[in-house]
Amino acid sequence: MSLQENYKNIKNQLPENVQLVAVSKTHPTEAIQEVYDFGQKVFGENKVQELLEKQPILPKDIQWHLIGHLQTNKVKYIAEFIDTIQSVDSEKLLLEINKESGKHHRKIKVLLQIKIAEEDSKFGLEIDEAKDLFQKYINVEFPNVEITGLMGMATFTDNKTQVRNEFLKLKTIFDELNQLKSLETLSMGMSDDFPIAIECGANSVRVGSAIFGSRNYI
Ligand SMILES: *Cc1c(COP(=O)(O)O)cnc(C)c1O
Repeated sequence: MSLQENYKNIKNQLPENVQLVAVSKTHPTEAIQEVYDFGQKVFGENKVQELLEKQPILPKDIQWHLIGHLQTNKVKYIAEFIDTIQSVDSEKLLLEINKESGKHHRKIKVLLQIKIAEEDSKFGLEIDEAKDLFQKYINVEFPNVEITGLMGMATFTDNKTQVRNEFLKLKTIFDELNQLKSLETLSMGMSDDFPIAIECGANSVRVGSAIFGSRNYI
């Protein structure tokens, strides 16, 4: 299928209130430009270096989301333009984002990444850590960073019940925190599991290979 057919096919499966983050990692800027020309404005990348190579040559109104692990010392390279950092997994990182975006008089949206998968994932906050972090800053208005939601990844498995249970776990945490302070975004679901994620309450999905095709890792 063509890029256009893939894109249309995904868009057709998304309810109106669900945001699509087109995950373009490993794919060339030509492909991103093509999808942009279909009307897509939100793209996700997981590596700072790759994002820094692509961002300058693509349209300036793209809303870039960082979806991969971010080292504190790299925040400064993306603070000028990044729209949302979906992968905040420490207090240190949160404070660094606030500091660096302040230098550009911006406010960066961030999601707390929470470990929901049964498999051992390297990155993400434990559920209790995330709750503590959220509560610690609930009455602190950061001038340059805003926690707008939560992000999580399910276990990579064919077991749909397990995937569903992991997404429901994140939805429960989302509802709990949303009671304390209103949140906008629940980011969960990728190419293989986004329909389940939406059923479980996701309002933002991160879809890569179902749009751009499979990735050839070098
Ligand atoms: C790569 C990636 C995606 C997209 O994965 P696909 O299976 O290609 O849709 C989504 N979220 C994160 C965090 C990723 O790293």
